[in-house]
Amino acid sequence: MDHGSPSQEHVSHLALDIGGSLTKLDYFSRNNECSNGDNNEEKSCSKESLLVSNGDKKCPVLQGRLHFAKFETSKINDCLEFIQRNQLHLGGCQHGGAPGNEKRIIKATGGGAYKNADLFKEKLGIFLDKEDEMDCLVAGANFLLKAVHEEAYTYIDGRKEFVQIDRDDLYPYLLVNIGSGVSMIKVDGDGKYERVSGTNVGGGTFWGLGRLLTKCESFDELLELSHRGNNRVIDMLVGDIYGGMDYTKFGLSSTTIASSFGKAISDNKEIEDYNAEDVARSLLRMISNNIGQISYLNALRFGLKRIFFGGFFIRGHAYTMDTISVGVNFWSKGEAKALFLRHEGFLGALGAFTSYEKHGFGDSIVRQLVQQSPLSASHAGYKIHGPLNGEWNDNESIECSVYVN
Ligand code: ADP
Repeated sequence: MDHGSPSQEHVSHLALDIGGSLTKLDYFSRNNECSNGDNNEEKSCSKESLLVSNGDKKCPVLQGRLHFAKFETSKINDCLEFIQRNQLHLGGCQHGGAPGNEKRIIKATGGGAYKNADLFKEKLGIFLDKEDEMDCLVAGANFLLKAVHEEAYTYIDGRKEFVQIDRDDLYPYLLVNIGSGVSMIKVDGDGKYERVSGTNVGGGTFWGLGRLLTKCESFDELLELSHRGNNRVIDMLVGDIYGGMDYTKFGLSSTTIASSFGKAISDNKEIEDYNAEDVARSLLRMISNNIGQISYLNALRFGLKRIFFGGFFIRGHAYTMDTISVGVNFWSKGEAKALFLRHEGFLGALGAFTSYEKHGFGDSIVRQLVQQSPLSASHAGYKIHGPLNGEWNDNESIECSVYVN
C-alpha cells in the first residue's frame, strides 16, 4: 500500500509500541491542504489558526492523517529503516538542551522500549520516552471508543455490526488485549483501571505452537491454513463420545468440543495423516475458546457486560472472532457481549501517541483530535481509508483522515 509521502507532509507525534512479537507505530501528518471553508487559506494554515473557533467565524479544518504501521519485532531494523526513510523521527518533540541541541524525544511503550532504547539512540539519535504499557492500552482503547466513529463491532454468525458507544455510558468495561500474552483489564475511566487477570496462552502461543506443529513460515500462512482446516478431524466432540448424540441434560450439543486435540489419540491414524490445515484450525479454536472463557469469567467476577477485545492476535479473522463471541455468549447465557475493535492492534501505540498531550509536550494536535473529533455518529468527521480488518499485510498501514469540524 502506498503510505503517501509522509516526509513531504507535516509529520508529528510519532509513537511506538514495541511488543514481544510486533512493533507498532503511529504518527500524525498534517496535509498541506488545510482549509477554512474557502481554499484561500490553504498555505497559511498555522498551528494557531487551528485553534480558532468562535462565533460565526468558520473554523479551519484540520486535515491530516493518522498513519499506522507494524513490523515484526524480530526485524526491528525494518522499523528503524522505515522511520529513517520517511524521516518520521524528525517530527518528534524537542526537549531540553541548548537551542539546536535539544534531545529528540519519541514516546514509546511495550517492553521493547526498554530493550531497544540504545538501538534507537544509536541509529536514529532519538530518545525513547517510556510510557507504561497498561496505561497506554487503556488510553488507546478509551481514545478509540470515545473519538472514533464505528470503532467497535460485534461479530455474530458471520455478521459484523458496528456498535454505537455512548461515551457517557462507556465504563466500566473489560478490556482483553490478546498480544503475545493476554491481559485482562477492568477499565473504570480515563487512567482508572485494574489489571484483573491474564493468561500466558495467547497470540504468541498460537504462532509459536502453530509453527512447531505445521512448519509454516509466517503468521499469515498459519491463519490461512486455519481458514481451510476442519477442527472436527482433530478435536474430540461430545458426539464422538455419545455416538453422535447431544448431551442434552447440560445443553451440550454433539458438535461441542469435549477435548481439544482429543481425537488425535483416539483413532488409528498415523501422525502424518493429520494435515496442517486441521491442526491450525484446532489450535486457533482452542486458544480462542480459552481466552473467551477466561474473559467471560472475569467479566462475571466484576459484573461487566461489555468485553472489548484488542491485540493483533485477532487480525479481524472471522473464525477467531466467531469462536470468542460464541464462547462469551454461551457462558454468559447472552448476558455479556464480545466486542472487537477496528484498530485492535494499535491500542498501545495510540496510548503512547496521546501521552504527548499528557506531558505537555508538542502542540495542540492531540487535544484537537480528542476534543474535536465528533463523538457521536451523526456528527462524525472521521473517515478511515485503507484496508479494513482481515485484510492486513505486514508493514501495511491504515490511513485515517481527521476532519475537525
Ligand atoms: P505484542 O505487543 O505482544 O507483540 P500484539 O498485539 O502485537 O502483541 O500481537 C502479537 C500477536 O499477533 C502475535 O503473537 C501473533 O499471534 C499475532 N500476529 C498477527 N500478525 C502477525 C504477524 N504478521 N507476525 C507475527 N505475529 C502476528
